[in-house]
Amino acid sequence: MPRKLQAETQGKGTIIIDLDQCKNCPTKACAGSCPVNLIRIEGELPVFSKPAGQVKRLCMDCLACELECSLQGRGALRIFYRMPQLEEHLRKLEEKGVRAVWRRG
Ligand code: SF4
Ligand code: SF4
Repeated sequence: MPRKLQAETQGKGTIIIDLDQCKNCPTKACAGSCPVNLIRIEGELPVFSKPAGQVKRLCMDCLACELECSLQGRGALRIFYRMPQLEEHLRKLEEKGVRAVWRRG
């Protein structure tokens, strides 16, 4: 069963990290990306450095962690927002082989 790490953000997003992809990530780039240090590496895997309630209060939805993971990591970290039209648009683009730059793993 895939292991996931999840937390809500201030902007009503949901950060989901697929930990199975993180094991072989050579950079662990997510950890150094967060301007408010919400992600750190423990053992070989990312963890939130604060309890879920504080992550929700402090995460400013800057998307730096998703971008760095996408560009330098394994693309295991995604932030989802309740924007069904955007998600549908991105899904259709991916069907055509076009992936938003911040989602390229
Ligand atoms: S950069 Fe991405 S793949 Fe690498 S450890 Fe962080 S979340 Fe996992
Ligand atoms: S979105 Fe920005 S503030 Fe929130 S966890 Fe990621 S890097 Fe940190």
